[in-house]
Parts: sequence; C-alpha cells; structure tokens
Amino acid sequence: MSCPCGSGDSYEACCAPRHDGAVPAETAEALMRSRYCAFVRGLGDYLAATHDAPSHAKESAETSRWAKSVGWLGLTVQGQEAGGVGDEQGTVEFSARYLEDGAVVTLQEKSRFVKRDGKWLYASGTPTVTRTKVERNAPCPCGSGRKFKQCHA
Ligand SMILES: [Zn+2]
Ligand SMILES: [Zn+2]
Repeated sequence: MSCPCGSGDSYEACCAPRHDGAVPAETAEALMRSRYCAFVRGLGDYLAATHDAPSHAKESAETSRWAKSVGWLGLTVQGQEAGGVGDEQGTVEFSARYLEDGAVVTLQEKSRFVKRDGKWLYASGTPTVTRTKVERNAPCPCGSGRKFKQCHA
C-alpha cells in the first residue's frame, strides 16, 4: 500500500515509523505528512502528541471518530519555508481534500511548526475551507470507479 500522505513510498517506509515513535519526523514537512496520514488512519493520540497545544490532548478520541467518518482524498504539499533538519521553526503550505456530507471539502492552510526538545510539533494555522457538492450520479472523487451515490455519498 502506498502511503496515504502521497509521498510515493509505502506506509511502512514512510509514516509508520513516525506513528509508532521509532523515527521522529526530521522536517516540518515530514511531520505535516505524518499528521495528515494520522487523520486518514484515525490516530487521534498521534495528532494530540504532535500538537503544540496540550489542551488538544483530551480531544483525541473525538478527532479519531471524526477522521474515520470522512473519506480522505489526498494531500498536496505546496511549499515549505525553513522547517528543515537544522531549523527550529518553519511553515508548510498544503491542501488536504476529503469527502463529507455529500461534498468534496478542500482545506487550504499555511501551518506553522515549531521544534521542541528535538521534535517537530504543529503550532498553528487557519484553514480556508471550500466545499463542492458532488452530483449523486457522478463518478466518486475517491477514484473507486463507482458512482458517488454507491460509494462515499
Ligand atoms: Zn507518509
Ligand atoms: Zn468513493
């Protein structure tokens, strides 16, 4: 299976070692990808653990439930400023897409990341959200080849 974050590598070679804690993300982009991937897999605890605001920890179960309830379509990383191996902070611009309530939701965000004790954390970001209704007879945007009404509607 190729990794849901879209890196082109397998999940085992890409985000799995970050999710199980074996290899922390070296860059802000790697952390960003692993967080997207954690949404796809419903790993609320990982999302809480990689968030710079401890208050998010108690929301992890709720986050997992929501993340599992939507149909994840993909991630596109558009750019990174700083956030490299030797940096202490950085930003990553990306768009993430998912299916929810009969629409394709596109979340466009420039997120800020900080490194604490050698670990990258998500600090903040304000998404721009657009929703595009999907026709019930149109091909499902997930690429299954089925009609939307028979798939993710
Ligand atoms: Zn990945
Ligand atoms: Zn579908």
